[in-house]
Amino acid sequence: MTNSYKITEHKYDMLVVGAGGAGLRATFGLAQKGLRTACITKVFPTRSHTVAAQGGISAALGNMGPDDWRYHYYDTIKGSDWLGDQDAIEYMCREAIPAIIELEHQGVPFSRTEEGKIYQRPFGGMTTEYGKGTAQRTCAAADRTGHAILHTLYQQSLAHKAEFFIEYFALDLIMDADGACRGVLALDMAEGTLHLFRGHGTVLATGGYGRAYFSATSAHTCTGDGGGMALRAGLGLQDMEFVQFHPTGIYGAGCLITEGVRGEGGILRNASGERFMERYAPNAKDLASRDVVSRAMTLEIREGRGVGEHKDHIHLDLTHLNPADIHEKLPGIAESARIFAGVDVEKQPIPVIPTVHYNMGGIPTNYHGEVVQLKDGNPDHVVPGLYAIGEAACVSVHGANRLGSNSLLDLVVFGRAVANRCGETIKPGQAHRNLPADACDRSLANLDRLRHANGDTPTAVIRDRMQRTMQADAAVFRTGETLAEGVEKIRQIRASFSDVRVSDRSLVWNSDLVETFELQNLLGQALATIVAAENRQESRGAHAREDFPERDDAQWQKHSLCWVGDEGETRIDYRPVHMYTLDDEVEVVPPKKRVY
Ligand SMILES: Cc1cc2nc3c(=O)[nH]c(=O)nc-3n(C[C@H](O)[C@H](O)[C@H](O)COP(=O)(O)OP(=O)(O)OC[C@H]3O[C@@H](n4cnc5c(N)ncnc54)[C@H](O)[C@@H]3O)c2cc1C
Repeated sequence: MTNSYKITEHKYDMLVVGAGGAGLRATFGLAQKGLRTACITKVFPTRSHTVAAQGGISAALGNMGPDDWRYHYYDTIKGSDWLGDQDAIEYMCREAIPAIIELEHQGVPFSRTEEGKIYQRPFGGMTTEYGKGTAQRTCAAADRTGHAILHTLYQQSLAHKAEFFIEYFALDLIMDADGACRGVLALDMAEGTLHLFRGHGTVLATGGYGRAYFSATSAHTCTGDGGGMALRAGLGLQDMEFVQFHPTGIYGAGCLITEGVRGEGGILRNASGERFMERYAPNAKDLASRDVVSRAMTLEIREGRGVGEHKDHIHLDLTHLNPADIHEKLPGIAESARIFAGVDVEKQPIPVIPTVHYNMGGIPTNYHGEVVQLKDGNPDHVVPGLYAIGEAACVSVHGANRLGSNSLLDLVVFGRAVANRCGETIKPGQAHRNLPADACDRSLANLDRLRHANGDTPTAVIRDRMQRTMQADAAVFRTGETLAEGVEKIRQIRASFSDVRVSDRSLVWNSDLVETFELQNLLGQALATIVAAENRQESRGAHAREDFPERDDAQWQKHSLCWVGDEGETRIDYRPVHMYTLDDEVEVVPPKKRVY
C-alpha cells in the first residue's frame, strides 16, 4: 500500500526543520556560509512561538551598570541547580555578547538607553559579583523582543537566499543503516503531496512540547515534533523530567505575563496583600528563579492564602508603578491583562498562577549543536548528520531550571554554532550518497495507518486525557505515589492511541490527520517526562519531589536519558554532567546549596 504514495525528491546541502528563532538563525547562518539550505516549517516563519517571547534576551553587555559574562556563567550554573553542562554554559555566556551585537547589526530594533545603548532590564536569578548584586542583563525590545528578533532573522534568511518550504509538516527523520541521518520526509499540507528532503545535515529546531500539558503558555503548535521524530528514530531524549512552570500565567487563560513585569517592579501578593516572596527568598524576593517562585506560590495557595473565590491563585500587583513606565516598557502586558483577565493594570492586580512554560529536556547535543547519544559506553557519541537547537534540544545549558531570557539567547548562540560547525565540516555542493529504496517505508506505513485510522476514540479525546493527566500528576510538586499513578495512566492513554479515529481521509489540508501526528509526538514525550520524573528520586530545579525534598548530588548529579519504543516500552540510562570548562577563562563552579 505504501508504495502507492508518490514522493518528490529535493537535494540540499543542509536542511533545517523549524523557523522559530533557532531555526532561522541557523538557516541564515548556513546560507551565509555558502551552503544551499532549505528551511521546512509547519507554520509561517513569523508565526513560530518565538514571536510570543516578551521579556528579552540576556547578555552581559554592561549597558546599565557593571556586568561580566563570568557572572552570567555563574548565575546560569546556579539556576540550572548544577545539572547544566559547564562547558556549554561557558560557551553560551561568552558568545552571548557578539551574538547580541550581531542581532543589533542585523536590524533588531532594541529599546534604547538615554545614550542610545541597548536597554537592559533585571530578570530572575541574574546577579552581579556571583550572587551579591542585581544585574540588568536582559536586552529588550519593549515587551515584544521575540517578535522583533524573529522578523529580523526571517528577513536575513531571505536576504541570504535560503529556500523556504512553508506549511510543510516534517513526518520523520530518514536514517540509514549506519545510524546517520540523511534527511526528512515531509507532507505539503496545502497540496497533500509528499516530499523527501535529502541533506548532508538535518537541524531539528522544532521547539518545545508544552502542549503535553493542559495549561501552557506556549502556542498550540508546540507539540515537540522533533522529539517525537527522534524517539521514532530510536534516539533517547535527555532530562525530560524538568518542565518549567512560569510563575505568572494569567489565571484561566494561561497566557503569559512576562517576568519583565517583576523586573520593572511588579510584586506578587497573597490574599492578605502580603509580599510573601520576602519569606521564601529574602534577597532576590520576586526575582528569585522561576522554580523557587512557582513553588512558593503553590505553597501559599495550598496553605489557604490564595486569592479569589476558590483561593486558588495569586495577585501580581503593578498598581504602584508609574503609568508612563508601564505604557513605555510593558504595553503588551497591559493589553493582555485587559483582554484575558479583564483588569486595568494601573488600578487592579493581575490574577496569576504557575503555568507550564518551557521544556528544559530534549534531544541531547554538544555545544556545536551536534546530537549526541550514549553508545558503547561513550556518552558523547555524535549521531552523524543530525543536529538539534533551541527548545527542541538539551545542550544542556539550562540543566534543571532555565533562567528567564536565557532561551532566546540559546536560540541565537546555538543556531549560530551549528552554522559555524557545518561551515567547517560540510563542503557546498558535495555529492549525495545513494539511499536504500525502502528508506521511507516505515514513515509511510505510519502515515497510511493514521490516515485510515478507524478506531473509536477521536484524537481530541486522547489529547485531552493526556493533557489533564500530565497537569495533575507531573506538576509543580510531585510525589512517588502520584507519579506512579501518572505513569500507569499515561501508558494506558498512549496505548489507546491504537484505537484513534481520524475522520478525514484526504491529504489536502487534513488538520485532523496533522493533529494526530502531533498527538503521537506528544504522547512519546509525555511518557518520557513522567517516567523520568518517577525515576529521579531527588528534588532539583523544576523537579520537586515531596518524598525526596533534597538535592542528592552523590546519586543524581547526572543527566537522564529516556528511550520510548514503538510499543511504548521505556528504558532509562544516564550521561554525566560536564563539570569542566572549555579553557581557563572561568573555573568550574562546584555544587553548593541554592538559595536566593
Ligand atoms: C509566551 C512565551 C514567552 C516567552 N518569553 C521569553 C523571553 O522573554 N525570553 C526568553 O529567553 N525566552 C522566552 N520564552 C521561551 C522561548 O521563547 C522559546 O523557548 C523559544 O522561542 C523556542 O524557540 P524555537 O526556535 O526553539 O522554537 P519555536 O519558536 O517554537 O519554533 C518551532 C518551529 O518549528 C516548526 N515545526 C515544529 N514542528 C514541525 C514539523 N513537524 N514540521 C515542520 N516544522 C515544524 C514550527 O513551524 C516553528 O517554525 C517564552 C516562551 C513563551 C511560550
